Amino acid sequence: KSSISPLRKINDTINSYAQAKNKEIETLQRNAAFRREFIADISHELKTPIFAAQGYVHTLMDGAVDDQKVRDKFLKRAAKSLNSLDKLVQDLLTLNQMESGVVKFHYEVFDVRELIQEVIEQLENKAEKRNVAIRFTFDEDKNHWTKADKDKIYRVCQNLISNAIKYNHEGGEAHINLKTKKNHLNIEIRDNGQGIPAEDLKRIFERFYRVEKSRSREKGGTGLGLAIVKHILEGHKSKISVSSTVGKGSIFTFSLPLAKNKLTKGNPKPTTT
Ligand code: ADP
Repeated sequence: KSSISPLRKINDTINSYAQAKNKEIETLQRNAAFRREFIADISHELKTPIFAAQGYVHTLMDGAVDDQKVRDKFLKRAAKSLNSLDKLVQDLLTLNQMESGVVKFHYEVFDVRELIQEVIEQLENKAEKRNVAIRFTFDEDKNHWTKADKDKIYRVCQNLISNAIKYNHEGGEAHINLKTKKNHLNIEIRDNGQGIPAEDLKRIFERFYRVEKSRSREKGGTGLGLAIVKHILEGHKSKISVSSTVGKGSIFTFSLPLAKNKLTKGNPKPTTT
């Protein structure tokens, strides 16, 4: 028997303890760097609408207030900047809650077809203004029920359809296709708009990443929408995939589990008398 064995044991224990501690320190450092970067990003994003609103208010105070036309225009623009600021702060809070894992998912059975129809109704005005047609296709005879967090899936659909409108051409189309597979539902949002260059495609789900910063801001974008979408779908153990061709358009796809229709067995369809 070797006499160094107990010593080696102690050595090994110390080594593995040191390794674990080093890993811990690395993680802490990485988190601190991530936080610093996040705060720098946020500050930059907050400054844009704040500076804009400040600019309009100061110009008004410097005399522009006396000209009614200018006053109305500047007040509208200041209000628009403040709305962007509000949206940004709300998205930040949502994303922060998601990333820190405090967000709870409330699962319920619901009809995805109805949910998409609700989202479309909400976005119809926006589409009309941009002269983009919304088309929704699904199979009439199929079941489109899922078990998921309804509000959060609403948010996912709203964001993707809203992008398909925002980043489309005049006279373009946002096409939503809902398909029932054996165990899941496939939701596809397709547009024939400007498309996304290949080098940007893998980064669009990162917070604050935008293909064209100024253009996206102008369209009221916060650059956080797709990051939120990704988190919500990850929470549902689902993934989002995207393919795109510049000048032709983009296709975003995700799936949700198929749930037994509430109106089948044990839950007879209510009859009206
Ligand atoms: P935003 O609030 O700026 O729209 P998102 O996180 O929703 O942010 O999207 C990130 C970026 O990805 C957008 O700024 C835009 O450049 C690009 N993008 C998203 N959806 C589309 C689309 N359907 N067509 C073209 N570009 C898109």
